[in-house]
Amino acid sequence: MTEVAKRTAVSPVPTGWTYAPAPEARDIVELRERYGLFIGGDWLEPREGETFTTLAPRDEEPLAEVAQAGPEDVELAVGAAREAFQSWSRLPGSERAKYLFRIARILQERSRELAVLESLNGGKPIKESRDVDLPLAAAHFFYYAGWADKLEYAFPNRSPRPLGVAGQIIPWNFPLLMLAWKLAPALAAGNTVVLKPAETTPLTALLFADVLRQAELPPGVVNLVTGDGRTGAALVEAPVDKIAFTGSTEVGKAIQRRLAGTGKKLTLELGGKAANIVFDDAALDQAVEGIVNGIYFNQGHVCCAGSRLFVQESIAEPLVEKLKRRMSTLRVGDPLDKNTDVGAINSRQQLEKIQELVASGTDEGAEIYQPPCRLPEKGYWFAPTVFTNVAQSYRIAQEEIFGPVLSVLTFRTPDEALEKANNTPYGLSAGVWTEKGSRILWMAQRLRAGVVWANTFNRFDPTSPFGGYKESGFGREGGRHGLEPYLAFDGPDLAGG
Ligand code: NDP
Repeated sequence: MTEVAKRTAVSPVPTGWTYAPAPEARDIVELRERYGLFIGGDWLEPREGETFTTLAPRDEEPLAEVAQAGPEDVELAVGAAREAFQSWSRLPGSERAKYLFRIARILQERSRELAVLESLNGGKPIKESRDVDLPLAAAHFFYYAGWADKLEYAFPNRSPRPLGVAGQIIPWNFPLLMLAWKLAPALAAGNTVVLKPAETTPLTALLFADVLRQAELPPGVVNLVTGDGRTGAALVEAPVDKIAFTGSTEVGKAIQRRLAGTGKKLTLELGGKAANIVFDDAALDQAVEGIVNGIYFNQGHVCCAGSRLFVQESIAEPLVEKLKRRMSTLRVGDPLDKNTDVGAINSRQQLEKIQELVASGTDEGAEIYQPPCRLPEKGYWFAPTVFTNVAQSYRIAQEEIFGPVLSVLTFRTPDEALEKANNTPYGLSAGVWTEKGSRILWMAQRLRAGVVWANTFNRFDPTSPFGGYKESGFGREGGRHGLEPYLAFDGPDLAGG
């Protein structure tokens, strides 16, 4: 067999495994029946008394009643944060760092409890919550703890100082990790915070309040207001100094319009439609692993998911064949089972959105493949899906699906790959698979994406800035760059918003 024939031959992937259930025990999590709002270090009932039920997406089991914060509650939280700012912002950086280190260590100590709750309330596989979300959340606190007393060195000759109160609005796809991305730099920089978790996934943020209590963080430095989009809108209106938002492009644009001319700072981390580009010299088996990780990780509920796969024409057939075989080994099912690769879809609303977009793909003429798998009867589920014969104009190639759905397109030359990859209103991330270092650099310089991964995908590190171009938003989270939007400076303001 020639080298090329060997590389493209379909490797014998064992598909006939049966796995015994390996459920993670959930009794480590003690849920309350009802949660109030965490304001000024206390649990308060919402003024209007409104609550909603939060569910487990795997079987729609009601988990707890959660408070719906109204505008008055949000104002109260901002007032508590404003008061706490007086002393928190004056603490020496080395003292703030001690609290952040403590939070990081407690996250590590309580990681199993938080991981189980994250999978229960959000639907993601326990092995992802356990091995990705929790370690990364702790790493963010560790990392920014290190900066808290070095701001003068991070921004020399610019006299960095905190902004005041930051309003932070986060989505449901990485509830605890997004909380860490938002809180750690804000607190390290000396700000206080009012944070709104997503409506469908409030529980790990509410358990995090107990982590704050254990860390003895002064009351009011972090306040949590749960609720739906109305609570988010109230936080945008409230007298905060900055809004940091992660979520849909549509809501991000509405917030930007609302804040124009108010003087409040803004960073937006919005949607994406990332290109994952495989050249004919790439190591195909590794690329297949990267493609699978790129789109089926967290059920595709990932803003930087590699949802558009561009394959060089000469290897399209064997690559798609290998991909389909690999997909047939993915285990879809109970998020709390340690064997599960693809868990539950986060909500009924998101499931319906995925179903609608997938139907548009077949209607427009793309060819669909889903490996045979038995989906649970209760709860929200969608099988891993790949579309071939996709044209650039199809909705599945243009719109963010935010589900386990991949569109495969082909190209012949690097120029064509680049042109097609950049043909999107988004610009959050991209992946390049090739053995040639020079080609990686050539592509990375020209791809209009905030993050470009080479021969890997979906890798995160607290030291590395993350953020978008175009309709994927502005401002960076992570790294030294992630501190900047939470600081005011003497001289020109280089931060976003
Ligand atoms: P949203 O943008 O609505 O949600 C993000 C956060 O903003 C949530 O906390 C949400 O609250 C809150 N919010 C909603 N409306 C407002 C408002 N008017 N003002 C302020 N805050 C608001 O995303 P969805 O959850 O509705 O998801 C819709 C689509 O967005 C997904 O299908 C996906 O394509 C995309 N998305 C992208 C994400 C990303 O990381 N880039 C993350 C999540 C979604 P609540 O949860 O209560 O609605």
